[in-house]
Amino acid sequence: MCPEKKDKDCVFCKIIGGEIPSKILYRDEDIVVFPDINPITPVHLLVVTRKHIPSLAQMSDAETALVGKMVIAANRVAREQGIAGKGYRLTINSGADSGQIVPHLHAHLMGGRQLRWDH
Ligand code: 5GP
Ligand code: ZN
Repeated sequence: MCPEKKDKDCVFCKIIGGEIPSKILYRDEDIVVFPDINPITPVHLLVVTRKHIPSLAQMSDAETALVGKMVIAANRVAREQGIAGKGYRLTINSGADSGQIVPHLHAHLMGGRQLRWDH
């Protein structure tokens, strides 16, 4: 896998590359976690692949392990944030109907209050 595959116009690639500053809460060779700029829950973080993959719909079988790494990183950060016990939500939007606005694979880690299905 090539974690360095980037899109020069992508906001998340710029955050991962340090071009746009953000508070990085977790990083490893494949995953970076930072706060959503427009949080809709008390804890609202983005679990982002270093590799620029435009959406879940464009993932290949070769990225199976990457999905697992996203989930494990999310759970680790949820524990660090103190929300793993009471519960949290991990959401991946894919494509226009889901409301995806940033075309770089990411999961929303949300918690810190009782969530409704529509947030
Ligand atoms: P999507 O709808 O694509 O799943 O969600 C993209 C998320 O990225 C949104 O919740 C939005 O607030 C967040 N976002 C957009 N631009 C930036 C940015 O420049 N920095 C950070 N930290 N989050 C961003
Ligand atoms: Zn990107």
